[in-house]
Amino acid sequence: MEFRCPSCGAAMRWDFDNQHLCCDYCGHHELPLSKNDVRKMTGSDAPDPATCPSCGAPLPEDPTTIAHVCPYCGDSLTMSHRIGQSRIVGIVPIKFTKRQMFDLLMRKYSNKLCLVPDIFSEDRLKEVQTEFIPYRVYDASGDVWYRGELTATKTTGDSETISTYDASLAAKVAYSDITILATDRVPDEVSLALEPFDLEEAMHFAEPYLAGSVCHLPNTDPQGDYEKIDSEALDKSWKALYTPGRIACAYVTPDDEPLKHDYQRNITATARGTYLLPVYQYSYRMRNGRVLAYYLNAQTQEVFGQAPIDRGRVALASVSLAFMAASIVALALAVLLMIGG
Ligand SMILES: [Zn+2]
Ligand SMILES: [Zn+2]
Repeated sequence: MEFRCPSCGAAMRWDFDNQHLCCDYCGHHELPLSKNDVRKMTGSDAPDPATCPSCGAPLPEDPTTIAHVCPYCGDSLTMSHRIGQSRIVGIVPIKFTKRQMFDLLMRKYSNKLCLVPDIFSEDRLKEVQTEFIPYRVYDASGDVWYRGELTATKTTGDSETISTYDASLAAKVAYSDITILATDRVPDEVSLALEPFDLEEAMHFAEPYLAGSVCHLPNTDPQGDYEKIDSEALDKSWKALYTPGRIACAYVTPDDEPLKHDYQRNITATARGTYLLPVYQYSYRMRNGRVLAYYLNAQTQEVFGQAPIDRGRVALASVSLAFMAASIVALALAVLLMIGG
């Protein structure tokens, strides 16, 4: 499906606030559509195009691409056939605009000296990419038991008393909305920095919601998810159970966790399907070739990125500081000479 503005020809995007397709160039927007109508526009039997319908440029050969923004003409395009066969159940709406995201980054880094000039300027906005990242969502529940022998050492004067006793902890665990990154296109560290997303706000997926964005289907093996869920459930249950006050042992410090390594559990995870979560992506190439990359959670405004510090300008600034220090010394010498004289 192609999303081209009928009045000026620019690419349109889905506006989640107003529930319609809109054109940022001329302001044209389609009538708000009911959720039913939007869902009817999803999936098709017609084969997906191999080239951009608008300029003829070849599309990426990646079979997981389901939404694409043509780098040559800016056309916004979704692969209806692939979407029809995919099992995407939900999508989290975009909550704030690219402009608001730049303002946020400006504020975040405004106290940093030597900001790279023009990095978040108005004319860079078109370089920000909206991307929906696929996550598999699970609920998990079960039981966890920890058992072990605790050793406590008490020192009184020169004598040391060592006492050991058996301890056990047990918990029923239930976790919902566990999100597992389902693509290797986004580094794990980026995903960790941007999470959590609030799935309470998720909507039923429909194809027009991808207008103006880039999106790929999952490309990782779901089998690996269970290991992650298992270790996350263990980790969370341990943190919830193990507080030094709760265990009747004054000598066990939080670092001393002999129980943690002797556990049994019985955790079952239920897959809820693939959800698409919104992220803004922006890269800036500096004069020295270094690339600064930013990712933002387009729902919660969580940021991943480095402070935009221009090393060239930092060097300049320290040179002028040194110069100032030198002139202060010279001034002090002159004052001393005057007093002395
Ligand atoms: Zn337009
Ligand atoms: Zn094109």
